[in-house]
Amino acid sequence: MNDHATVSTAPVQHFIRSIIENDLDSGKHSGIATRFPPEPNGYLHIGHAKSICLNFGLAEDYRGVCNLRFDDTNPEKESEEYALSIQEDVCWLGFQWNGPVRWASDYFQALYDYAEILIEKGLAYVDDLTAEAMREYRGTLTQPGRDSPCRDRSAADNLDLFRRMKAGEFADGSRTLRLKIDMASPNINLRDPVIYRIKRAHHIRTGDTWVIYPMYDYTHCISDALENITHSLCTLEFEDHRPLYDWVLDQLPVPSHPRQIEFSRLELHYTVTSKRKLNQLVTQGLVSGWDDPRMPTIHGMRRRGYTPAGIREFARRIGISKSENVIDMAVLEGCIREDLEAKAPRVMAVVNPLKVVLTNYQDGVTSARNAGFHPNHPEFGEREVPIGREIWVEQDDFSATPPPGWQRLSPGGEVRLRYSYVIKCEEVVTDAVGNVLELRCSIDHDTLGKNPQGRKVKGVIHWLAAEHARPVEVRLYERLFSDAEPDGHKDRDFLDFLNPDSLRVVQGWIEASVSNAAPETHYQFERLGYFCTDRVDHRPGERLVFNRAVGLKDIWAKGQG
Ligand code: ATP
Ligand code: MG
Repeated sequence: MNDHATVSTAPVQHFIRSIIENDLDSGKHSGIATRFPPEPNGYLHIGHAKSICLNFGLAEDYRGVCNLRFDDTNPEKESEEYALSIQEDVCWLGFQWNGPVRWASDYFQALYDYAEILIEKGLAYVDDLTAEAMREYRGTLTQPGRDSPCRDRSAADNLDLFRRMKAGEFADGSRTLRLKIDMASPNINLRDPVIYRIKRAHHIRTGDTWVIYPMYDYTHCISDALENITHSLCTLEFEDHRPLYDWVLDQLPVPSHPRQIEFSRLELHYTVTSKRKLNQLVTQGLVSGWDDPRMPTIHGMRRRGYTPAGIREFARRIGISKSENVIDMAVLEGCIREDLEAKAPRVMAVVNPLKVVLTNYQDGVTSARNAGFHPNHPEFGEREVPIGREIWVEQDDFSATPPPGWQRLSPGGEVRLRYSYVIKCEEVVTDAVGNVLELRCSIDHDTLGKNPQGRKVKGVIHWLAAEHARPVEVRLYERLFSDAEPDGHKDRDFLDFLNPDSLRVVQGWIEASVSNAAPETHYQFERLGYFCTDRVDHRPGERLVFNRAVGLKDIWAKGQG
């Protein structure tokens, strides 16, 4: 085990940092402004964490600012709950946005006014084609599109129709406003994209004020420009939209022209990173909610016991580039483990209890020792580790027929109780069919804090004195999917790969020192892994509920007394 591994936080250089450094050196910009632009249509996931760490991280590194702007252009799918969860996630990850939370809807009037300018310049027209007809006119990757019969309407007619669209004179979906760019462009995004549609939908911010809503591509570039964003970072699927981003800004009297830069999306093995699929898991009741500890959502990871520093370190390690960013879950787990290894106090818990009676236990003779909560952090303090006649050990730590090299309990075998005595298994009590009910062991009273005379006892196990232990519910989580790429199979649904053993709930015992722990407190359970008190169900002093965040590396292979 490497207790001294310090988590490095030095930035990893990447092409976006180089672009920014050049822009600062050349004087193109004197400071930078980025933004994180989520759509409030679900909870954020680990992929968004990558984008958050990038955008907010760059602002920190280059003494710039990063705005939080909700892309709220799809009123039907968006909710206040999602917007609040996103703000909570950004803060929890350790970032703070510049100024107020912003909304694309703050700019609805400005966007509308710019649309009128485009119409007046002959660069936008109202189209009456149905969605289906429009698709047909659009052409394909190999065939150019055809001009809509409405394309040559006069600016005056277009302005009149657009104003009447806004006034609610036309039915939903009956007309659109389109840019007049090039129906033959090899880039389909430039084939007269729709920038406004008619939709009578209640909006979380603007209510029923608007019956026309701007499209994302049109909204996003103008919002960036109005906020004087310098570097607008997005994922690679927007690469083909960049010419449109630039086209719109080139035609309008906007205060700035941000540079769009694309990087690759994070994909994490053994999970899915799509809000739509995560939503499906929630709505079909396959998980307990968006914050189910098995979910790759920020809320889920938080509840599970992942830490902000661990996630930020993960984002740093996976880097930023334009090439595929498919990462194994083990990398994320490793970052969490490293963070917790250094920070989490160590306690003992028994999750699959087996009773052991210490036959020669003697009040006043058999004594307890103190133990520190962390070998490298004396300031974490220490507690007494009480002993008694009856103790709990882990069922796994006993074998009636031990394999060669077994260093835990077995008939006639010796083992050390962590922070306590060496004991010897004298008798195995079984039921009629041979199930082990309890062990009877003797204490070597000459082994407290010292090695036994004349023999070596290598094995050390964790344990708890029954009369001092507190009951605990322990939720043992495994990966949610049993396949590395659940959504990467052509003819199979990703739900086919749900891991049926992703959650196992056990009733165990834990030492009393944790009983007043607040929700979201992290511990290492010695030899078992890193655990966190559940944010929702844990009640200090009343009901102890712990989630397994991540297992341990095999630190006990090397042995620790
Ligand atoms: P999803 O496909 O899960 O719905 P999205 O891209 O539609 O994600 P948005 O709310 O639009 O979700 O995303 C906000 C920001 O987060 C965008 O800039 C987007 O590029 C970025 N982002 C989303 N998913 C990832 C990912 N897997 N890796 C990196 N960045 C991501
Ligand atoms: Mg999106």
